[in-house]
Amino acid sequence: MPAVNIVLIGPPGCGKGTQAVRLAERYDIPHISTGEILRAAVRAGTPLGREVAATLASGSLVGDEMMTDLARDRLAQPDVARGFVLDGFPRTVVQARVLDEIIGASTIVVLIEVPAAEIVRRMGTRRVCDACRLTQSVSDPFHPDSEPCPYCGGNLVRRPDDEPKTVRHRLATYAAFAAPIVDHYRSRASFAAIDGTQHADKVTAAIATHIDRMAVREARPHTGAS
Ligand code: AMP
Repeated sequence: MPAVNIVLIGPPGCGKGTQAVRLAERYDIPHISTGEILRAAVRAGTPLGREVAATLASGSLVGDEMMTDLARDRLAQPDVARGFVLDGFPRTVVQARVLDEIIGASTIVVLIEVPAAEIVRRMGTRRVCDACRLTQSVSDPFHPDSEPCPYCGGNLVRRPDDEPKTVRHRLATYAAFAAPIVDHYRSRASFAAIDGTQHADKVTAAIATHIDRMAVREARPHTGAS
């Protein structure tokens, strides 16, 4: 099977992270979340982490040069030989062009579409486990006691950049950059837009159908016909 290179794009809170974990498991390829790489650097207090901490807290984008260097380094690691699921990159057309240079245009690109009002609602209930780092949704966002993580018993905490004010800024940032990125990919056969308001299982199934269709196409001898 050829390498399965998957790029998930969509607004913050559209379910990219959840879908990326599932797809990585299904195709046995690494999940690469640029946001998680940056958050880990902040937690570890590395030079990169110190440089990006304020930007992450504000909900703005880290500069293209830093992000493309990070993507180049990560995509040069041997574990991506059979493919990868990229979650959170590219966020700008500059990044999308660099990604084309790194891996060619054969990437499968999936846009997960969710309206802004639904994103705001979802972010209110979104929590991340401070132990296993899985993202989950709590049933009562106003309950004073945090529910334990159902998978490992860790504490479910709100990501600092999921505070309502920062979410609004992140959505505005996404809106400012989304259209050119989608235009960059939309005409490619490997691009698909999926309704992210469906149940997560249906979203996974729709993405997998698209990926499998693309994999069959890649495996066929090329005849010149599209
Ligand atoms: P995420 O977990 O994908 O929502 O990313 C969290 C934060 O990391 C974003 O709000 C940005 O500050 C930063 N970030 C992650 N990926 C990128 C990227 N490709 N370009 C610029 N900033 C990024």
